[in-house]
Amino acid sequence: ASGYSLLRDPRHNKGLAFSEKERDAHYLSGLLPPTVLTQELQEKRFMRTLRQYAVPLQKYIAMMDLQERNERLFYKLLIDHVEELLPVVYTPTVGEACQKYGSIFRRPQGLYISLKETGKVLEVLKNWPERNIQVIVVTDGERILGLGDLGCQGMGIPVGKLSLYTALGGLRPSACLPITIDVGTNNEELLNDEFYIGLRQKRARGEEYAELLEEFMSAVKQNYGEKILIQFEDFANHNAFDLLTKYSSSHLVFNDDIQGTASVVLAGVIAAMKAVGGKLADQTFLFLGAGEAGTGIAELIALEMSKQTQEPVKETRKKIWLVDSKGLIVSSRMESLQHFKQPWAHEHEPIKTLFDAVNAIKPTVLIGTSGVGRTFTEEVIRSMAEINEKPIIFALSNPTSQSECTAEEAYTWTEGRAIFASGSPFDPVEYNGKVYVPGQGNNAYIFPGFGLGLIMSGSIRVNDDMLLAASEALASQVTQENFDNGLIYPPFTNIRKISAHIAAKVAAKAYELGLASRLPRPDNLVQFAESCMYSPVYRSYR
Ligand code: NAP
Ligand code: MN
Repeated sequence: ASGYSLLRDPRHNKGLAFSEKERDAHYLSGLLPPTVLTQELQEKRFMRTLRQYAVPLQKYIAMMDLQERNERLFYKLLIDHVEELLPVVYTPTVGEACQKYGSIFRRPQGLYISLKETGKVLEVLKNWPERNIQVIVVTDGERILGLGDLGCQGMGIPVGKLSLYTALGGLRPSACLPITIDVGTNNEELLNDEFYIGLRQKRARGEEYAELLEEFMSAVKQNYGEKILIQFEDFANHNAFDLLTKYSSSHLVFNDDIQGTASVVLAGVIAAMKAVGGKLADQTFLFLGAGEAGTGIAELIALEMSKQTQEPVKETRKKIWLVDSKGLIVSSRMESLQHFKQPWAHEHEPIKTLFDAVNAIKPTVLIGTSGVGRTFTEEVIRSMAEINEKPIIFALSNPTSQSECTAEEAYTWTEGRAIFASGSPFDPVEYNGKVYVPGQGNNAYIFPGFGLGLIMSGSIRVNDDMLLAASEALASQVTQENFDNGLIYPPFTNIRKISAHIAAKVAAKAYELGLASRLPRPDNLVQFAESCMYSPVYRSYR
């Protein structure tokens, strides 16, 4: 290949870091200015440029450009500056990027499968240049973060999630495939936007939808085999639950919004128990929002409680209450409830508002998964602080604008007593001379390590016990020092080490359950996980 094309191949390009010898050997002489830079110096330069951009979206675009130009440098940056760059390549900035995807669109990333491709999905898959795919993240764009239906512009999500798979979980970039399934959008604004990149039609539903997804799922298995991990991302809940149920017995599928969220929040709850000194089974939970996130978390908490107490899940569910847009979920509403809400319809008189529900149920833990900002009002949080010495409050809705309350509100209205975590990042808060560091219940703690554990063990199915194992692994990574600073999640700086521990526990479960196909089982699974991880350091080309 010519030197010119080498410079335009993001997987191999090193820019000014090509050495003299490489420049001679690969026909690069004259195509680069004389200086040779180290990767470290390139990194320093790029970070300095990035920090000069005032607008987050500019940083996002600069990162995407870098990914398209020099993949290893992109990952080196993301790994070395994970806390700073996570909010750029993922929530909250990725949300804005999706909203404006049509305008900022440059070179296409990932695969687009639209209704037009019905009947030839397998052919479309074969157009992708890489053969050895280990993980697919797929969306249909109907519920992007808390931003609703962004149709085809949801592509930013699979792209962003997979860059985290590589940076945080160590999967090879070439093994990752982002896919957006375009069945239309019901977002009028997009349908009328001259720069919209997707199909200009209302969403296909029912059979037309199910058939395209069925074709997609079987084409993926046919093309990549049994061990390909398919992660569903940001589907609306009516499809998300059905797809997960339908394919979990025939494919290696994982829904991050349901299962990943559940696992990361359970980890936070387990850690919070260590911080406040209580037992999980003694807690009462109240959720605002009974969708994918809310019911997913509730179910995993009930399962963990049942493992701890030996009570059946049917019993432990009774400690968990949910409020949806119509009020508290109670048995008198059973008839009209979607099936995933029905297990949570307990005996109680109807209650309309969250505030009334807090005062009736008297929860020790309040979790927001409604997608609606400002719903943990001052009176709600003050009630939590009256009921509890150490109220545990998770405001999980993303992006930041949709958070149920801010970190500052949570600490101020509880006089600094809250154990608080949020979905989107908040800066530390100073209250009465003390600094409080809010935890971020970010799914990025779990899914990269979880996926690595599945892939390195050659697992062929996902099992709920693996999710529990992941939660425990994450909670065990929180140190006393973290607790002393009010943290219930470990800092992201150690994320690759954390991911390796999660991967090891998940893989161990896979072997224990007979779901692992990579035999023999490695003795030291943490070490094995670490040895599998992609390194972004440049290779030398001789
Ligand atoms: P979803 O499936 O659409 O569920 C939303 C739920 O909230 C529904 O039950 C809905 O009620 C309820 N709701 C909506 N408006 C409400 C209101 N004003 N009062 C009370 N309930 C209301 O969405 P999801 O996938 O669960 O996601 C919800 C939010 O969680 C999103 O913002 C997402 O970004 C966030 N999330 C955070 C994390 C994380 O922090 N790690 C992970 C995943 C998701 P109905 O059922 O009656 O319509
Ligand atoms: Mn998601």
